Amino acid sequence: MTSSPSLHSRVIVVGSGPAGYTAAIYAARAMLEPVLVAGFEQGGQLMITTDVENYPGFAETIQGPWLMEQMRLQAEHVGAKLISDHIVEARLGKRPFELLGDSGRLYTCDALIIATGAKARWLGLPSEEKFKGFGVSACATCDGFFFRGKRVVVVGGGNTAVEEALYLSNIASHVTIVHRRDSFRAERVLQERLRRQENIEILFDHVIEEIGGDENPLSVTHARAKNVSTGALRTLETDGVFVAIGHSPASELFRGQLALKPSGYIAVEPGTTRTSIPGVFAAGDVADEVYRQAVTAAGLGCMAALEAEHYLMETPVGV
Ligand code: FAD
Ligand code: NAP
Repeated sequence: MTSSPSLHSRVIVVGSGPAGYTAAIYAARAMLEPVLVAGFEQGGQLMITTDVENYPGFAETIQGPWLMEQMRLQAEHVGAKLISDHIVEARLGKRPFELLGDSGRLYTCDALIIATGAKARWLGLPSEEKFKGFGVSACATCDGFFFRGKRVVVVGGGNTAVEEALYLSNIASHVTIVHRRDSFRAERVLQERLRRQENIEILFDHVIEEIGGDENPLSVTHARAKNVSTGALRTLETDGVFVAIGHSPASELFRGQLALKPSGYIAVEPGTTRTSIPGVFAAGDVADEVYRQAVTAAGLGCMAALEAEHYLMETPVGV
C-alpha cells in the first residue's frame, strides 16, 4: 500500500548534499526534469558545520548551511523538483528502477543517481550509546552551545576533530582532543590554529575506553582514556564527549544489489560514476573514500548527471 500515487521521472537523484544538488542542476539543464529526494538530512554534512574556507568562488569565509541553501535555490531555479522524503528501499533489479520512500510513496526512474553521502561514525562503546544526547555528541555546531563554560573532550585526529575542537574552544572553558596516534591527519593550517589556542590540550596516543557520569539526571562527568603504548589509564574530568572519528558511506540501502568496495563505498568504474548496474550512477562521499570534500562531491555530481544524460540518450526506455 502506498500513501500517494507513485511518481515516475527519467532521472531521480537521491541525496541533497553538494553531489545531489549539483547532479540535479545539471540534469535539469539537460531538460531531464529530475526529481531529487532530499533525505532526512536536507543539505547534507555541510549543514552541521560553520566556516567553509575552501569551496572555490568565495574570497570571504562562508557558512556551510548558507552554501547548501544557495545550491538548493539554484537547483530549484533551474527546474529540479525537490521532494522531502527518505528512501527506505531500493529495487534495482527492475526497469524502471523502484525506490520506496519513508512516506510510503513509490518512486520510479529510468536512471538513478545515488548521492547519499556519509554518516558519522561512533566509537561503539556501550557507555557512548548510553550518554548519546546526554553529553555525548557527534556535532559540535549542533550541541556545542550546551557546554558553555564547561570542559569537553573531542575524539579524533582528522579535519573534523580539529575543527570541532577549535569551535568548542570558543564556547567551552577547556577542550581536550584525544587522538589514537601521535600525529594528526588534519590539514596543517588547522593544526597550527589548534596549537595556538591556549585552552586546548592535545592527548596523543590515547583511546577512550569508557564514558562515565551521573544517572539522575543522565549526564557525563568523566571519560577514561587509555595510553595505546603503555596501557596506562587516565581519567579526564569532562562534561561532554564529541566523537569526530570520520564518516561511513551511506550505502547500506544498496548492499546486495550494487557492487560495494570492502570499505562499504559504492564501487564505480575508474574515472566515472558508473556503478555495477547500467543506469545507476553514484557520486560524492558515498563513492569516494579518498577526497571527501564538498567541491569533489559537487564535481562528481556533475559527472553523474552528464553520464546519466548519455545513458538515457543511448538506451531505449524500458531496456
Ligand atoms: P552529504 O553532504 O553527506 O549528503 C548526503 C545526502 O544524502 C543528505 O542530504 C542525506 O539526507 C541524503 N541521504 C542519505 N541517505 C538517504 C536516503 N536513504 N534517502 C534519501 N536521501 C538520503 N568539505 C569541504 O570541502 N570543506 C569543508 O570545510 C568541510 N567541512 C566539513 C565539516 C564537517 C563537520 C563535516 C562532517 C564535513 C565537512 N566537509 C567539508 C566534507 C563535506 O561536507 C562532504 O565531503 C560533502 O558534504 C559530501 O557531499 P555529498 O553530497 O556526497 O553527501
Ligand atoms: P577522517 O579524515 O577519516 O579522520 C578520522 C579520524 O578519526 C582519524 O584521525 C582517525 O585516526 C580517527 N579514528 C577513526 N576511527 C577511530 C576510532 N575507532 N577510534 C579513535 N579514533 C578513530 O574523517 P574527518 O575528519 O571526519 O574528515 C572526513 C573528510 O571530510 C576528509 O576528507 C576531510 O578532509 C573532509 N573535511 C574537510 C574539512 C575541511 O576541508 N576544512 C573539514 C572537515 C572534514 P587515524 O588518523 O589514526 O586514522
